[in-house]
Amino acid sequence: MELPGYAQVGALSVVACRMVGMTTPAAEIMDGAAYAQAVEDAVKASAAYYGGGTSALDDDAYDRLVRGIAAWESDHPDQVLPDSPTGKVAGGAVVGDVPHTVAMLSLDNVFTPEEFTAWTASLARRIGHEAQRFSVEPKLDGLAIAARYTDGRLTRLITRGDGIAGEDVSHAIGTLVGLPEKLERPVTVEVRGEVLMTTAQFEHANEVRTAHGGQPFANPRGASAGSLRAKDRAYTVPMTFFGYGLLPLADTDTALAARLGELAHSDLMALTAQLGVNTTATTAVPGIVAATVEETLERVRETAALRAELPFGIDGIVIKADLAADQQAAGSGSRAPRWAIAYKLPAVEKITRLVEVQWNVGRTGIIAPRGVLEPVQIEGATITYATLHNPADITRRDLRLGDHVMVHRAGDVIPRIEAPVAHLRTGDEQPIVFPEVCPRCGSAIDTSQERWRCEQGRNCHLVASLSYAAGRDQLDIEGLGATRIVQLVEAGLAADLADLFTLTRDQLLALERMGATSTDNLLTAIDAAKDQPLSRVLCALGVRGTGRSMSRRIARHFATMDNIRAADADAMQQVEGIGTEKAPSIVAELAELSPLIDRLTAAGVNMTEPGATPPTPTTSDTDTDTEVAADGTDKAVGPLAGMTVVVTGAMTGALEKLSRNQMNELIERAGGRSSSSVSRKTSLVVAGEGAGSKRAKAEDLGIRLASPDEFAALVADFTT
Ligand SMILES: [Zn+2]
Repeated sequence: MELPGYAQVGALSVVACRMVGMTTPAAEIMDGAAYAQAVEDAVKASAAYYGGGTSALDDDAYDRLVRGIAAWESDHPDQVLPDSPTGKVAGGAVVGDVPHTVAMLSLDNVFTPEEFTAWTASLARRIGHEAQRFSVEPKLDGLAIAARYTDGRLTRLITRGDGIAGEDVSHAIGTLVGLPEKLERPVTVEVRGEVLMTTAQFEHANEVRTAHGGQPFANPRGASAGSLRAKDRAYTVPMTFFGYGLLPLADTDTALAARLGELAHSDLMALTAQLGVNTTATTAVPGIVAATVEETLERVRETAALRAELPFGIDGIVIKADLAADQQAAGSGSRAPRWAIAYKLPAVEKITRLVEVQWNVGRTGIIAPRGVLEPVQIEGATITYATLHNPADITRRDLRLGDHVMVHRAGDVIPRIEAPVAHLRTGDEQPIVFPEVCPRCGSAIDTSQERWRCEQGRNCHLVASLSYAAGRDQLDIEGLGATRIVQLVEAGLAADLADLFTLTRDQLLALERMGATSTDNLLTAIDAAKDQPLSRVLCALGVRGTGRSMSRRIARHFATMDNIRAADADAMQQVEGIGTEKAPSIVAELAELSPLIDRLTAAGVNMTEPGATPPTPTTSDTDTDTEVAADGTDKAVGPLAGMTVVVTGAMTGALEKLSRNQMNELIERAGGRSSSSVSRKTSLVVAGEGAGSKRAKAEDLGIRLASPDEFAALVADFTT
């Protein structure tokens, strides 16, 4: 009699190589030596996977390798090595010494609805009719074990091993949530199921492990495998058990054996739950019974959609003929039962390298680390970034720059780094440097919570944007650095840029460390800022997509703020470098800034660009549009009209005091266009002292060169 004895195998099922319609290509094996190496690599990876370590290969890479091995073997059947993982349960990795009463088999896999439908058809042929109904359950991504109960008492835990015999891990009795030491009834049975770590248990396990000087586990499955097999550890970590099979123990109660043998799988699961064992019935994806293939596929889709939200990993859906009679009619092969199949979901974990950690400041001032990865494909998407949660999380997991990391992606959720693959370290990994001040506004960081926060909180953005506006290349307000701005913001004196221009002497004097001299100097600097050209005022507003040079182009094109504000997206596109995408967003953002611009104007801030002539007013006659555009393009006048100019090296003489930004402003006032890189389009390179590669490139390309003095003479009328 066939008993419901089989095991779910993890994502590394070797059976995959026999199926058609793979999602990823097999590894290519060129010759016998490559084949031998591939077998060795696969055996090693498999041993690590089942033995509790971390494999150097992720599931996808392993699958590809084994498929490549299988392909080579089918072409060279006389050269198959005895170690080959193909056709073996668990890749032949682990041999235990406790025999299983009934073999714990693997499952064959399907990957697509078509493959699944084909499988149901072959099942129907085998049993002589369509399977009456299917049980559909999530395929848990953990480690299969058999739990033996004698008269209702848990006496022994055995890993699956090679399916015939497993390893005794009874020392783990009492550490598995959901696997009681005493059943509700004094029966002598074996419960089979999966041991796994939930997301929370995994995080806890790595915390405890690293606290004891151990290396973190790369993923929950490796963590549960390692923790289950570890004996005499100074600490224990909780894991969770889900039952998915119930069978009588040999040579005991034959009446019970007969009864269990007649129960449908769904009834066995209900009984398992009644005995007090945890099953998937308690989860968001409980096992169900489906009457048809369509219903089954619908459930597969539902489960796949819920995958990202589950507090534990699944790597597929297990579908079984539910009725014992159907199962018995189908029978089992040596490796897998014919009445059950695993519908595999795409891999969600890959190993890649952590290249950099960026620190981003959110709207509320939360400073969140983000990992930059060597690009890796998961579920058809290229993953470049992964969330790292918080600094404590990095420390806890002992992550380092250059580490190989296990990256997990499920659905549309932002990918996360599970953990470093510590045994792949070379010693060249570098510690991750945490920021000492807010990376956006430069204020101090509140590190009292796990999630670091800029002390400015929601004002962080305000401090950063005011600091930018007051900066040297914008309004150039001397004495108004980040520290002073923080003071103003905290005192409630500056809620936006316009507030800076209405500050009074008394208000400033009331601030700490603010004497009469610095107050007067600051007021003078603020007053002088009112006369900055429109290009700088515009830049200070910080409109997205408009940096310094774009602000200059807009200001020169429109000449006045009124003209800019009157421009629609079409008119905005007349400015060089503004395309169909950027134009509407600039127009929209300027409209949003309207009240602020009004207040700046009222405060006396200059809103015109010196030397610029406004475009010819548009009329309602559309025929004139092209003329306006032509006019806009042609209106550049001055000695540099139509020229693209690059400045490199240190300026001397009359130009010595000009910053690079001021040089660019000068070029544009004189009718030219400033650029930072030399190309064939460059008309003139101003090469100062120490000019290097840009000068050399200009010489190579035969581009006109000018010394700072020559250039100063050329634009003498436009220096201010
Ligand atoms: Zn900040």
